[in-house]
Amino acid sequence: MSILAINGGKPAIHGTIPAELFSWPVVTPEDEAAVLDVLRRGAMSGLDVTEKFEREFADWLGSKYAIGYCNGTLSLQAAMFACGLGKGDELICPSKTYWASCIQAFNMNATVVFADIERDSLCIDPADIERCIGPKTKAIMVVHYLAHPADMDAIMAVAKKHNLKVIEDVSHAQGGLYRGRKLGTIGDIGAMSLMSGKSFATGEMGMLVTDNREMYDRAMAYSHYERNNASYIETEYLKPYFGLPLGGMKGRVNQTCSAMGRVQLKYYDERCRLIREGMNYFWDLLEGLPGIRAHRVSEAEGSNMAGWYAPHGLYNSDELEGLSVSRFCEAVRAEGVSVSPGGNNPLHTHNVFKTADIYNAGTPTRIMNADRDVRELDALPVTEELEIYSIPWFKRPMHSYIEMYAAAFRKVAENYRELLGEGKRKKSSDGRWFFYNDKED
Ligand SMILES: *Cc1c(COP(=O)(O)O)cnc(C)c1O
Repeated sequence: MSILAINGGKPAIHGTIPAELFSWPVVTPEDEAAVLDVLRRGAMSGLDVTEKFEREFADWLGSKYAIGYCNGTLSLQAAMFACGLGKGDELICPSKTYWASCIQAFNMNATVVFADIERDSLCIDPADIERCIGPKTKAIMVVHYLAHPADMDAIMAVAKKHNLKVIEDVSHAQGGLYRGRKLGTIGDIGAMSLMSGKSFATGEMGMLVTDNREMYDRAMAYSHYERNNASYIETEYLKPYFGLPLGGMKGRVNQTCSAMGRVQLKYYDERCRLIREGMNYFWDLLEGLPGIRAHRVSEAEGSNMAGWYAPHGLYNSDELEGLSVSRFCEAVRAEGVSVSPGGNNPLHTHNVFKTADIYNAGTPTRIMNADRDVRELDALPVTEELEIYSIPWFKRPMHSYIEMYAAAFRKVAENYRELLGEGKRKKSSDGRWFFYNDKED
C-alpha cells in the first residue's frame, strides 16, 4: 500500500509537465494574422468578418442561420426573445448551471422554474419537466452541462406534447453530438458562449443558430440595430420597428473575435478529437474504482462530448465509507493535481432567485409577474445531493502524462481508508457560481 501524499507519502505527480498538455486555446500565427488584419484595417466594429464567420458556423453545425453576439449571455437572451418569452411567461431550466442560462428571463418580465437533473448526465431530467409545467410555461432551456449531451429525444417529446419551445445552451458543448446530430440544432434554437475559457474560444463572443426564419428575425431585431432592416428581416410584423433594437441592447461583435473564431473553426473538430482521446483514456484507466465514476457519454450511438469543457467526475461517498468529496479532493491535490469539489452552485439557492427585489416592485423579481409562486417548485433532490469534483482537462492525448494523473486519483481511491476519521462527512455544499480559469500546470 502506498502512503498518500497528504499523510507524508511521495506525491504521484512528479517531474516537469509539458505546457501543451493543458494550454488552451491553441493560438498560432494564423490567429494572430487574422486579428491583426482587423486591427490594421480599423474594422473592429464592422460586419464583414462576423458575417463570414456566421455563415461558416451555420454551415459547420448544419443550421440555416447563425447570428453573432458580443457575448453568450446576450445570445441566450436573444434566443429567449426569439421564442416569444414575455410578461408572466415561465422558462424551465436546470438549477445546476451558469447563471446566464436563465437570469435574463427577468429582463423580459418572465420567470424561471427549475427542473431537476439526471444523476449520470447532469443535464435536465426529462421526467421532471412535466412537474414544472404550468399554464404560462413557454420554453425549456436545455444545458448540455459540462459537455454532456442532454437526452434530447425525451426532451423534444415532452416539448411537443405541451407545445413548448426548446432552447439549447451549448456553451459547454460546441460541436458536440447527440445520436449523430449536432447540439444546438435539435431544439428550436441554440445559443452559446464562445468566450476565452470555453472549448470554442474566440475572446468574448456568443453565437445563436436556428432553422426558423421568424426566430432568426426576432433574434436579429432584438439587439442588432444596424441589421434591423429589410436586408435582413422578412417577418412582416417586425417591419414597423426597423432601425432600433427591440431589446434596447447592442449585440455587435468586436471583429477581432470573429476573426479568431474563423481560424479556430478550421481546426476545432480535430483539436476536440484529440481532447476526447485523452479524456477517454484517463477515464478508461480509472474504470471500476470505488467512489469515482466518469461523467461521460457512450460514443457508441454517435454522441460525444465535443471539447469536454470543464470536465468533472461523479462521486459516491457510500462506496468510500462516507469519505467527503472535499477531503477526497484535498488528498488528490496533495498528490499534485489541482482539483476541487462542486461544479456550479445550484442557482435556486441564491438570493437572486429567492428574495431579490431587483426592480423595486415591492415583491421579489422572480415572482413579480408570475401567476404562481414558482419558488415552491424548487424541490430538486438530485441537484442538491449530487457530488462532483473537477478533473484535469487534457488538451492532448499524451498517454504517459495522463497515466500519471490517473495514478494520482487511483492512489487516493484505493487508499481512502487512510483519510477516514477527519474526512467522514456525508455532504459537501462546496460549489462555485462560475468556473475559475484553473491552471493545471
Ligand atoms: C459561459 C456560459 C454562458 C455565458 O456566456 P458568456 O459568453 O460568458 O456571456 C452561458 N451559459 C453557460 C452554461 C455558460 O457556461
